[in-house]
Amino acid sequence: MLYPLSYGGRIWAEEDCTRRSVEANHVFSCPTSSGPGPSKVRSRCRLGTSTCRAAFATQAARRPAQVAFSTQAAFSACSSSLAQLAGVTHIHVAGEIHVDPAARAPHWLSVPTDVNELMPELWSANTGKDADGVLRIAGLDVDQIAREVGTPAYVLDAADLKARARTFAEAFAGWQVYYAGKSFLCTAVARWVAAEGLGVDVCSGGELAVALRAGVDPGMIGLHGNNKSEEELRTGLAAGVGRIIVDSFDEIARLNRLARYLEARPRVMVRVTTGVEAHTHEFIATAHEDQKFGFSIAGGQAADALQACHESDVLELIGIHSHIGSQIFDTEGFEVAARRTLRLHADFASRTGVRLPELDLGGGFGIAYTSADTPSSPAVLAAAMRTIVAGECAALDIAVPHLSVEPGRAISGPSTFALYRVGTVKKVLLDGGASRLYVAVDGGMSDNIRTALYGAEYSATLASRRSEASPTLSRVVGKHCEGGDILVRDEFLPADISPGDLLAVPAAGAYSHSMASNYNHVPRPPVVAVEDGKLTTLVRRETIDDLLALDLG
Ligand code: PLP
Repeated sequence: MLYPLSYGGRIWAEEDCTRRSVEANHVFSCPTSSGPGPSKVRSRCRLGTSTCRAAFATQAARRPAQVAFSTQAAFSACSSSLAQLAGVTHIHVAGEIHVDPAARAPHWLSVPTDVNELMPELWSANTGKDADGVLRIAGLDVDQIAREVGTPAYVLDAADLKARARTFAEAFAGWQVYYAGKSFLCTAVARWVAAEGLGVDVCSGGELAVALRAGVDPGMIGLHGNNKSEEELRTGLAAGVGRIIVDSFDEIARLNRLARYLEARPRVMVRVTTGVEAHTHEFIATAHEDQKFGFSIAGGQAADALQACHESDVLELIGIHSHIGSQIFDTEGFEVAARRTLRLHADFASRTGVRLPELDLGGGFGIAYTSADTPSSPAVLAAAMRTIVAGECAALDIAVPHLSVEPGRAISGPSTFALYRVGTVKKVLLDGGASRLYVAVDGGMSDNIRTALYGAEYSATLASRRSEASPTLSRVVGKHCEGGDILVRDEFLPADISPGDLLAVPAAGAYSHSMASNYNHVPRPPVVAVEDGKLTTLVRRETIDDLLALDLG
């Protein structure tokens, strides 16, 4: 195995130099300038102090890892031990390679042969480009959409979203699928997914209000949240939601009190932490999880919470809930989580004689944002999860409980692209002779915070015309007063991209609108749905007047 490492602020370890791995999300920082030594690197590792050596080796073996060093001395002090650690056989200091602008592209991003072409996996089923290069969705082209509703806008392929909900319902037939509304919720979408037989997960009073206004059967609504207010619980109880997923002993006490007062008998699930944190092709399984959600199985709180709900005279305990992460492509993490939750389920049954009827394995099914993402289909995931659960139940000699899952982004994400108008284009010179094209659009981190917040990767395409210009490494940025206001960190766009062009970012349907803000007092864009050539505004654009109306001073 060859792991080229380079110094220049960063070390890269890349498997076999094949450029097929994805960029690591684990950045180990060196906190000192005098040479950190491997122990310092270890102590800053996000994966945890005890497992990080092995974890680094695993990361390096699977995909590139980045280690930031502040000095050449620090790099030298660490690189030999990192080399040993990861089986590195070759180290070189970065240099001339940076003259080629493409060398600044992440390893998964290759120069396209035709910069106009779309990667079908990134776009909704009814989105494509005409020969003139204009992006078209369900019979409407983006020029027309931009004329009608302006930019920026979230443009949703309605038939695609409904089909994704249906595909999940079919793949997980016999289980219950709840759509995770936090990924994107409006009344139309709540109605569509409910019509496909899905329940709706909400995690605030606001999301609950949308689902109720949409007419979703309250019995098919799950109420989440690690700190639900008394008001939110009261509304949920009054509406008769089908399940409340409790997350703390304080909440159990609050719910007991409210249920007694309102003479309600809520069906509750206990959210547990399994010690599994899953993301793309990797998962980490530890005993404990250092996070705000749920009750720890390993720490014993999960068993205590189940017992507290069981002993309540007003709560109807129906089962255990676990959610292990996001952008999950494989089922290995679910396997460990299912084993741990089912063992808890079996222990509870043998202790109390009560077999809980339900088990929820959460959401997190991944989607393709870039060419580096290779998600599995719902059918493949469902088949694997059925086998896992059946196997674990057989091993524990227990009946299989009624299962549910909670996909969000896998339904809402790929159905929508964000449409922007280019405002300025700047060529920025980098060290070593390289350059990057900064393409600024009329939106930014206020309509999609994921890149700035999580370092999420996106793709983009010139949407309003065909270009014969060469592909140029570009960065799509927004209009906000913030250096980190980046929408698409790396993409090859045509070198002649100019002010006035339309630019589209695929897979923008999940956690974009729902996490949007008014930073810099920028009004939030509309969500428009297109189906059979007809455009419907689902959520209108905010106006400056909307914002001023909130200011009572
Ligand atoms: N369920 C729970 C409890 C969650 O916290 C989340 C996301 O954070 C989801 C489901 C949906 O995740 P995704 O949109 O990645 O499928």
